Amino acid sequence: MEVIFLGTGTSHGIPVIGCDCPVCTSADPRNNRTRCSVYVRAEGADIIIDMTPEFRIQMLREKLSTADAVLITHTHADHLHGLDDIRPMTFNSPMPVYGSTKVVGIIRKRFDYIFNVTQMGGGKPHIQLNPVEGPFYIPTKDGGKLEVIPVPMLHGKLETFGYRIGDFAYLTDCSYIPKSSMHLLNGLKVLVLDALKYKDHPTHLTVEKALALAKKIGAERTYFTHMCHDIDHAKLLSELPAGIEPAYDGLRIII
Ligand SMILES: [Zn+2]
Ligand SMILES: [Zn+2]
Ligand SMILES: [Zn+2]
Repeated sequence: MEVIFLGTGTSHGIPVIGCDCPVCTSADPRNNRTRCSVYVRAEGADIIIDMTPEFRIQMLREKLSTADAVLITHTHADHLHGLDDIRPMTFNSPMPVYGSTKVVGIIRKRFDYIFNVTQMGGGKPHIQLNPVEGPFYIPTKDGGKLEVIPVPMLHGKLETFGYRIGDFAYLTDCSYIPKSSMHLLNGLKVLVLDALKYKDHPTHLTVEKALALAKKIGAERTYFTHMCHDIDHAKLLSELPAGIEPAYDGLRIII
């Protein structure tokens, strides 16, 4: 299994428009963060988690051109608004998109033109929406099936899904993981976890909280994501214990 970090930045991306702070003007490419997403080459299926506004740029940068399914964590703009750019990947067959029942309902409303009948020739992606509330299976290329386990979390007051695929779990945009979800995170080889900034935030984990949670979950390796411009990559890397590190755009890990 391979995980490719398409983006590791918070909602406005790093650098932030108009900001001249040390991180936004840093020469370290690891401080350049597009919006948060991963591409997962799993057993028999390639999966993209979230469709950022930079989805097209991320796919071209990583020389990726296909996927078998898309998972959506929640409907905040930074995780969804690149959905239309899936279009070239749906010329031959519709792209299955999975999310909670609520998420699927919002996608149908926010991207209504995709699902309404319109004149021929209007370029629209072909998307098949699949509401899920518990573990589900994605059909694999060889006719088998791959299990995906949603991990219910809280992002402030909003309910979001993390996703577990095999020994990998992706938990972006969360401030709290309910006790009832913790058993879904046993025995992980790789965990990706929200770590927005050093200071407290109502809807995201801080570095300190993410570190405590990472230790509690106890994955073999943990990578932080959804980081804002308070976080300098090299500085945070030097502060973290072995086995826990900040991710960066383009990072590829083998599990
Ligand atoms: Zn976000
Ligand atoms: Zn800045
Ligand atoms: Zn969010």
